[in-house]
Amino acid sequence: MLYNTDAVVVKTVRYGEHSAIVTLLTPSGLVSAMAKGALKPQSRLAAGTRLCAQGTYFLYQGHGMGDIRQVQLTASRRRLHEDIEAAAYAAYFCDLALVSTPERPHAPKAMFTQFSAVLDALELRDETPPDLLARVYEAKICSWLGASPNWERCIRCMGPLVPPAAYHMTEGGLVCGPCRRDVDRSAEFVVPERTGRLLTAFTEVDVRRLGRIQVSPPTRRSLDAILSHQLREFAGLHGKAKDVLDQIIRSLRLD
Ligand SMILES: [Zn+2]
Repeated sequence: MLYNTDAVVVKTVRYGEHSAIVTLLTPSGLVSAMAKGALKPQSRLAAGTRLCAQGTYFLYQGHGMGDIRQVQLTASRRRLHEDIEAAAYAAYFCDLALVSTPERPHAPKAMFTQFSAVLDALELRDETPPDLLARVYEAKICSWLGASPNWERCIRCMGPLVPPAAYHMTEGGLVCGPCRRDVDRSAEFVVPERTGRLLTAFTEVDVRRLGRIQVSPPTRRSLDAILSHQLREFAGLHGKAKDVLDQIIRSLRLD
């Protein structure tokens, strides 16, 4: 069967001397396919097998893994390969997409459109700093994987988040000031007041229409800590990709 689909490359692995196995994120989920001869110098498939490349992929599906026959690129996203910080974030986003998205045809289309928009925003480096872009994408993944509480309500009494609210690490949500009297203090950390509202906004915003976001450094640190913990402990994503990203970003800051 020959078919075509929009897709973004989220993983590419060398296979043999000249070929690659490519994992594509499509509007209905992940699919892996062989790109035969893609690593030969003159291959017309070469550009379509690089990480973050996007376009229309023409695939032949026989028994077993399909073959990529042709690619019409709409975005090569070259800058994501040239700038170290952007490349580090792009690799992290691809890894998140890879570990969180179901196989074709079981994923909601938003997982594709929002991922593609996150890469566009990262490449344009327009108004959203890359760390906040990461928080937006992480908040959405928590929600898609059913690991998102109502971020604007106390997970204990379901009431509003009367300050000083805290993130509770074993219950996976925010707890209001009055409820915190009964909470083990070693399992929580206090969060700045806007945290819950921002987490809701990040979960719901369409990245294609993301405007300027301004967030103070303490709130950024708290969003990072909450979403890292939530993805690991409640969405079950145990990969090392976030640690690798954090190490690269730290080393860039030292220069
Ligand atoms: Zn409460």
